Amino acid sequence: MGLPDDWPVQIEESASHEDGGRFTIRLHVSTGVLSAEQLGVLRDVARQYGQGYVHLTARQGIELPGVSLRDLSAVQASLAHAGLSTGSAGSRVRNVVACTGGDKCQHAFLDGPALGHSLDMLLGGEDLPTQVKVAVASCPNSCTAPQMADIGFVGTVEPVLDRALCNGCGACTAACDERALTMRRGLPRRDPQRCHYCGACVVSCPTRALRAGRVGYMVYVGGRVGRRPQMGHVLARFVPEDEAPDLAGRILGFLRDYGEPRERLYPLIRRVGLDLLRARVHSRPLHRTPIREA
Ligand code: SF4
Ligand code: SF4
Ligand code: SF4
Repeated sequence: MGLPDDWPVQIEESASHEDGGRFTIRLHVSTGVLSAEQLGVLRDVARQYGQGYVHLTARQGIELPGVSLRDLSAVQASLAHAGLSTGSAGSRVRNVVACTGGDKCQHAFLDGPALGHSLDMLLGGEDLPTQVKVAVASCPNSCTAPQMADIGFVGTVEPVLDRALCNGCGACTAACDERALTMRRGLPRRDPQRCHYCGACVVSCPTRALRAGRVGYMVYVGGRVGRRPQMGHVLARFVPEDEAPDLAGRILGFLRDYGEPRERLYPLIRRVGLDLLRARVHSRPLHRTPIREA
């Protein structure tokens, strides 16, 4: 049994569909965060209307299997009461995923969860030619694999040396897993080809001779997983936190203007060229322009 195209919520038919028209409902979970109260409501809904369990998706979402179509309204009402909604499917920005980052991880220089939540609030819900997956990581460890998302953000920090404060202890070179730092004449020298801009050397420096220079997001576009996995292209570096949603909005504008139905960003970029995307998103200064272009 199929569902009408204009069905008001995004639900997916369960794989074993011979059980009398039951469905898996996919919930919209912004950056994978749920409160204890919401978890309690989910437990109750799963027991009353589902099969007593939920499924955690690879992209920090939640699916509620085994719900009868006739119970859909009651399920939606219960979820809505707890601030939860169904969705995150179809041709739009899906659940934005984000790492725990922020103040929850020692490696974070940026607040990836906060950016992820902003992106989710600003970009979600709009109809697009195709699905768009967005991922945010607060540091180059890239726990959420932003390089494999349609639009990915990786928090980065550029170390800057104040020679006058350096005592030549070498702690920064020991802290660098990439071997991007070597001591020469008592001072650390950084190889930009090796540096991943993680900031570990900044944290390790006892004299604050190394400090954070540019801090911002490395932005990837056109990555994907699935049958033909693909690394995204680097679109921009050190994008400030408050300008990242604007940039994401411009990328979606590009997709709307040039994308064919169901054409993901990777094949679109291959078809029209990365230079066109760069020209579009950099055509005016990145500074607090509206997210949604007409
Ligand atoms: S991506 Fe970095 S900051 Fe985020 S959880 Fe992983 S290690 Fe921590
Ligand atoms: S930022 Fe990270 S990768 Fe770059 S030099 Fe410092 S520790 Fe090494
Ligand atoms: S850790 Fe700091 S003080 Fe020590 S060598 Fe590196 S920059 Fe100099």
